[in-house]
Amino acid sequence: MTNTGPEGGFATLTGLVGVIGSRAEQEAQELTDPEVSPEGAPTTTTHLTDEQTAAHQALVDEWNDKLDGATAEQILDWVNEHVTGTVAVTMSMQDTVLAELAEGRVHDAEMVFLDTGYHFDETIDVANDVDERYTLPLRTVEPVYSVKKQDEVYGRDLYKRSPTACCRMRKVEPLARMLNPYEAWISGVKRVDSELRKDTPILDVDRTGRLKINPIAAWSDQDVEDYIESHDLIIHPLTRQGYPSIGCATCTMPVAPGDDPRSGRWANSTKTECGLHL
Ligand code: SF4
Repeated sequence: MTNTGPEGGFATLTGLVGVIGSRAEQEAQELTDPEVSPEGAPTTTTHLTDEQTAAHQALVDEWNDKLDGATAEQILDWVNEHVTGTVAVTMSMQDTVLAELAEGRVHDAEMVFLDTGYHFDETIDVANDVDERYTLPLRTVEPVYSVKKQDEVYGRDLYKRSPTACCRMRKVEPLARMLNPYEAWISGVKRVDSELRKDTPILDVDRTGRLKINPIAAWSDQDVEDYIESHDLIIHPLTRQGYPSIGCATCTMPVAPGDDPRSGRWANSTKTECGLHL
């Protein structure tokens, strides 16, 4: 029989709170610490040999200043001539400038796209269009866990509680694994992107000894727009709807005209970089 009196109601409520509390405790106990990455896949990139690293450093020392005034096309012609081994062209799909620049110019190259599982549908559409338009192979790299599995292991919506851990497991570590077969990688980082990126060199040696090439480091946002228009590139529709910088759908907000283009990324936290370029 159900007790409907005031005391019985209080007792029922107390019991319910107890059940919810113990469930929450149990779930909290079962969740894995987000600082612990999933097992079963490397989380770092294998370091190149000392010899390879030294060869890359010698290229940087000799060519970085000379290439600083070169066009992006000239820089990629240089890559084709001087880099031995396959080059990764990293693609965010926000724009397709790097694909257009590398196509037909860097012959031993592959485009690489990190599918975090949290992308806008429009970003996936652009990736499919890129795969059709360019002859360079497109490799898609995924995190160890699907979003569903990540929710189960670390708790729902980790990006809200710990975006750094989420980015580490869904971006930084997959990219680290992805880089293993490559000698060098091309990124679309620009000096105007942020204060952290203002000194980006054209050539650099990353912490694994690989050559990192930033062919559009000196470009402005307007340069990117002009290049997109003059080469009739695939356009990410959201870049025309108030999203000048596009990452995961969960962590990207539209930006008011005139505001910092990257201010829509992790807009509700102090985070400004996913860690890929640090
Ligand atoms: S941008 Fe957000 S959802 Fe994407 S990996 Fe980073 S924290 Fe996770």
